[in-house]
Amino acid sequence: MSTTNPRVKSKEHVYDSLIVGAGISGLCAAIKMKKNGYTDFKIIEKAERVGGTWRDNTYPGCGCDVPSSLYSFSFAPSSKWSHLFARQPEILSYLEEVGKDYGISELIDFGTELENAQWNEEEGLWVIDTLVGERREITYARTVVFATGPITEPQIPALPGLETFEGEMFHSANWNHEYDLTNKRVAVIGTGASAIQFVPQIQPKVKKLHVFQRTAPWVLPKPDLDLGDASKKVIGRFPAIQRTWRKSVAQTLNVINFGLRNPAALKPVSNAAKQLLRVQIKDKELRKAVTPNFTLGCKRILFSNNYYPALQADNVNLIPHGLVGVEGNSVIGANGERHEVDAIIWGTGFEVSHPPIGRKVFNTKGQRLSDLWKDSSPEAYLGTALKDVPNAFLVLGPNVLVYDSFIRLAEAQLDYIIDGLKKIKREGLRRVVIKPSVLQKHNERVQENLKSTVFNSGGCQSYYLDQNGRNFAAWPWSLRVLQRRLRSFNLADYEVIRKVNSKQDAA
Ligand SMILES: Cc1cc2nc3c(=O)[nH]c(=O)nc-3n(C[C@H](O)[C@H](O)[C@H](O)COP(=O)(O)OP(=O)(O)OC[C@H]3O[C@@H](n4cnc5c(N)ncnc54)[C@H](O)[C@@H]3O)c2cc1C
Repeated sequence: MSTTNPRVKSKEHVYDSLIVGAGISGLCAAIKMKKNGYTDFKIIEKAERVGGTWRDNTYPGCGCDVPSSLYSFSFAPSSKWSHLFARQPEILSYLEEVGKDYGISELIDFGTELENAQWNEEEGLWVIDTLVGERREITYARTVVFATGPITEPQIPALPGLETFEGEMFHSANWNHEYDLTNKRVAVIGTGASAIQFVPQIQPKVKKLHVFQRTAPWVLPKPDLDLGDASKKVIGRFPAIQRTWRKSVAQTLNVINFGLRNPAALKPVSNAAKQLLRVQIKDKELRKAVTPNFTLGCKRILFSNNYYPALQADNVNLIPHGLVGVEGNSVIGANGERHEVDAIIWGTGFEVSHPPIGRKVFNTKGQRLSDLWKDSSPEAYLGTALKDVPNAFLVLGPNVLVYDSFIRLAEAQLDYIIDGLKKIKREGLRRVVIKPSVLQKHNERVQENLKSTVFNSGGCQSYYLDQNGRNFAAWPWSLRVLQRRLRSFNLADYEVIRKVNSKQDAA
């Protein structure tokens, strides 16, 4: 179903803006809107709670790999973190608390899923078709903020024989807590960011753990201090400590980012990591098997103190190959190794190059975005403004990824978006859409500058690259440059139609 002018039935209320999603980005959007006196909006969230990533990922050991002083909103520091790197349950509680403290929770329509979003040219508004349980509801809004998440769709490879597996099977993002792993023979597929967190947690429980590793990741030690009650009290009492802590983490990440853009600078870090491998892993064969064969930083750098020790436990078998098939209850590695297991846990990450929101949104030509992205991946101006999609902004869209806290990226983008929303309202603009020439020039520069970064030149196949090898995820410059570019919404970058005379006006 697609029309360029969906019918507008009864216009009970046309919101200035609709926010879709109540994860970190949606909450932050709402808080910043309120702070800016932009109040005629609501949020829809398909689930029954806020939190997004941190509501859905509940696997054992789940936590953030950026220190919490930085993985928290700039305007809502917390002194409650149990460790330097917070665990999933406390991040979820933090988000719920922030939602309540800032009066956002009551603005959210929970259990409401965006099904279809179409722009009505005549009325100059978005017609948002939602599903509330079985019931369909329509919301009208002048602008939309899609805060629907960058890493949401669990990826499970379609392997031969998978349907014949009779045991238990789940992805790390949909952990089955009802299933007792005690004394079970388990295959873990993948050794990415989630797997290295849950492998050490389940290893002591299971009878046998077969870890299938297609590519060995770089794993660095995690400086994960237990903060304890005394430190928390001090941090709570002296906010300056919190600010200094945040600043120093930001500076450290800035240095790492410099290295990602100038891979030679990371050589000493990878040498230190190899040295550490020699100390941590005694068995030469195993050490060889877990030594990465690509430049550090090409895939996300992982941090763990207990992953390598877990791999060396007697009940663990590291298979330095991918899984190629399943036959009954046997899992088969690319080296031909076969093992009978009771459960398969997919630590295979997420499909990120085709954001699911693309299946729900139509451009002004009546084309579904996912159809346009089918053979490639999305492009956007500053990761937010899409071609032929007026008055709508994506949070954490393509090519804004900097090695930092996603919260800082979302905050920077939202400052830009809200500046835009305010200008649209203040100047009575009816329709604002990114100029194709601006978008094209921007993306050409992004792609050109990504060539020398470690993401493109580091010799790995990472989730930054789409099926054609195009880097759709990373930002090629520093976070500071991104923040500067996002400081102000420049109407000159957009084609603008003013409300009064509906006359196109290249602002
Ligand atoms: C396991 C894991 C660990 C991570 N660790 C880190 C880390 O350590 N540091 C870091 O910086 N980043 C990390 N990330 C990235 C993380 O996704 C972001 O940091 C952040 O949580 C993204 O927030 P978001 O609000 O943009 O998206 P999400 O958290 O994905 O929230 C999107 C929300 O939109 C809702 N939604 C989606 N579609 C619809 C629809 N059609 N209708 C209505 N609602 C909808 C969803 O239900 C969800 O609540 C991690 C991601 C994962 C998966």
